[in-house]
Amino acid sequence: MPDYLEAIAKVIYREWKSAGQFTGKNHPDEESLACFAENKLSGKDKEIVQKHLISCNICAEYVSVQLKIQPHLSLDLPLPLEEKIKNMVIHGSKENLFEIFLKLKDKALEIIQTSGDVLVGQELIPAPVLRSRQINEFKEEISILKDIQQLRVLAKIQNKNSKKFSLAITVKDKLSQKTYKNLRITLIKDEIELESYMTDSGSSFFENIPPGDYLVEVSREGQKIAVIDLKVKA
Ligand SMILES: [Zn+2]
Repeated sequence: MPDYLEAIAKVIYREWKSAGQFTGKNHPDEESLACFAENKLSGKDKEIVQKHLISCNICAEYVSVQLKIQPHLSLDLPLPLEEKIKNMVIHGSKENLFEIFLKLKDKALEIIQTSGDVLVGQELIPAPVLRSRQINEFKEEISILKDIQQLRVLAKIQNKNSKKFSLAITVKDKLSQKTYKNLRITLIKDEIELESYMTDSGSSFFENIPPGDYLVEVSREGQKIAVIDLKVKA
């Protein structure tokens, strides 16, 4: 399972657990939900869980993540519930996640995976389309963009010398294309904040970063509004 899905599952599980599942008052227990997601429930048990999922977003999200992790499973559900869960699977439970997974090569960058669109010349191309055109290698720098709610987040990554890279983050308003100036961009590794900048000048620059797994958080007045899951391999 991809790491970020695992992370999402953990967050949802925590929320769901803290929402009182173990008091047994409101939500079905973990095993019931897991069995439901695996289509192992039948009859009245299934009906009870189904009824609950229609009204409970926390449990529906939990099930949708399970289904995302194991997309081959198909459930025979009443239409409204199927729609609801399908929507959650499509839109993702954490819509503010922007995934970038790259490899530094000698004077080039290779896209392994991204949930953003890649800027090729003037054209924005989704990663699956790039794959189908068999484009995954870029000269020295790459720009990847993702719309997160009203934000347009642009990450520009440069391969410095195949051992270090640099990262520039720009956040614009999706509609007006104005650059946000009151945002904080923080580079995090292993839960430690390495560098943090305000977007006063429009972009935030992080230089000479060694390959590794990073999170880049975009926050406004202390509130996280977007997270870039950035993995760079050497
Ligand atoms: Zn519930």
